[in-house]
Amino acid sequence: MAKILSGKEVASSLEAKLKEDIAALKSRGVTPGLAIIRATDSRPMLSYENNAALRASRLGIDVFKYSFPENACKDELIKAVEEINADRNIHGCIMLRPLPGELRTHEKEISNRLTPEKDIDCMTDISFGGVFTGKSTGFPPCTPQAVIELLDHYAIAIEGKRAAVIGRSLIVGRPAALMLLNRNATVTLCHKKTKDLSSITKESDIIVSAAGCPGLLTKENVSPGQVVIDVSTTWDEKKPNGSGGFGTFTGDAVFEEVESVVDAITPVPGGIGMITIYVLFKHLIEAADNLTK
Ligand code: NAD
Repeated sequence: MAKILSGKEVASSLEAKLKEDIAALKSRGVTPGLAIIRATDSRPMLSYENNAALRASRLGIDVFKYSFPENACKDELIKAVEEINADRNIHGCIMLRPLPGELRTHEKEISNRLTPEKDIDCMTDISFGGVFTGKSTGFPPCTPQAVIELLDHYAIAIEGKRAAVIGRSLIVGRPAALMLLNRNATVTLCHKKTKDLSSITKESDIIVSAAGCPGLLTKENVSPGQVVIDVSTTWDEKKPNGSGGFGTFTGDAVFEEVESVVDAITPVPGGIGMITIYVLFKHLIEAADNLTK
């Protein structure tokens, strides 16, 4: 049986450190301020915002919500970003992406107006450049950083290991591959057009799966001794939710099959998704510290 890499455990450890860091900031008169820009009423986005705001306020972080209708124009969002840049009480900003409809075509332009010092979720090209070059310019995106936090928490070595990352999106797969490379792993970045995926995954020490494709990883794709980080969260109406009902998230791995072969695996839910929000707060606290020194 594989070791279960618990996102809850990593999140608790990050939360404990955050409490200390926030207390240190408050002792010098700084209350960290988080801005959330949302331009859609979609349920997942609303629930992300509410969850982030609730957890932030429990930690003593001030939350500033900038909410827009889906038919807002890009200039309204740019104005909000500029207000956030100028507001000394705000130290970090996230914009819930992808933006809807017509706004989506302006997403890059709007994102790049944010000052990189407040870009705590890699919205700007400058921050993404930092991930690409391996320099600490801006902050990396929170989800791939959560993968690194989990590996570090469980003292799973990255250097010298062969890593397969499945998925090449700009918010998860591609930066995850670069961040593992920056930590001296030898990385193969896989995607929909990759031929013979299983020959790559079977030869890897670490598999990071972010395809959003349930059932992609079976016992045929894995080998003993591996670590599997399942980032994907696809809603599954039929999966038991642990409270007697049905409907919860599922990952790319067929959990029972993969778990019976590999050394360690993250569950879904209860894995990377639980860590991401604390990575966001960690970046916020660092930004607040940097901006108020
Ligand atoms: P995306 O759709 O933008 O990208 C998916 C990537 O997977 C693409 O590059 C595609 O080429 C690749 N892919 C799809 N099917 C494949 C297949 N059969 N074989 C190989 N590659 C395949 O998705 P995304 O935004 O990168 O998100 C990926 C998953 O991660 C989703 O399930 C999403 O819900 C989840 N996610 C989780 C968190 C978290 O905090 N846990 C955060 C963001 C995204």
